[in-house]
Amino acid sequence: MTETGRIIVVSAPSGAGKSTLLGMVRRELLHLSVTVSATTRPPRPGEVEAKDYYFTSREQFLEDITAGRFAEWAEVHGHLYGTHKSEIERRLLAGGTVVLELDVQGMRSIKRLYPQMCSIFIVPPDLETLKKRLVLRGVNTPTDMEVRLKNARNEMAAIAEFDHCVVNDDLDVAAKALVKIIEGSAFSEDACGIKLK
Ligand code: ADP
Ligand code: 5GP
Repeated sequence: MTETGRIIVVSAPSGAGKSTLLGMVRRELLHLSVTVSATTRPPRPGEVEAKDYYFTSREQFLEDITAGRFAEWAEVHGHLYGTHKSEIERRLLAGGTVVLELDVQGMRSIKRLYPQMCSIFIVPPDLETLKKRLVLRGVNTPTDMEVRLKNARNEMAAIAEFDHCVVNDDLDVAAKALVKIIEGSAFSEDACGIKLK
């Protein structure tokens, strides 16, 4: 297979603003091709099948694991999430910039498969802000929120494994930094974009 595209993995602790930022970046960089993951998590209000996720039963997800259909999969916050090989391969063949939104485990798996990929970690300015954003989003139960905050602390410890880090304090500043990193994958050091490697 001749693959001509390149791969960018974006990770963030839940609530850091990854979906919001990537929404802004996608409106600016129209050539980005963002993979759609499968998940056993139930849809949130407003989420659309095959656009936000492929919402899947646990049985179907396990069958896809057994059949080797996933490039990577992981259990995150008590639900299964995974990227089908076909999602990545057809986008790479089309030649664009392929973006995957994954947790830290997913980033590690994709790095093993595609060592040349570029990885970006989005972080909140601090954990108190992260908590406020999770409350603001209003889609998680208090228990769910505790799990996400606990996982956030663990995920933040993986920061040094990423190529770049973007601090999402001011949304517009962070979106611009993300655009710069994705556009070049060459780097420009500015207010909130930090080159780690
Ligand atoms: P994630 O996809 O990382 O879980 P979201 O993009 O859903 O996070 O953002 C979580 C909440 O925080 C949303 O309500 C979003 O509007 C808000 N948010 C994101 N970035 C910022 C920011 N820079 N300043 C203030 N609020 C933000
Ligand atoms: P959410 O439930 O908030 O949409 O996502 C929870 C977490 O799962 C986020 O950290 C998100 O990046 C991660 N995630 C989403 N899709 C995938 C995937 O296909 N694989 C992996 N490993 N993580 C994913």
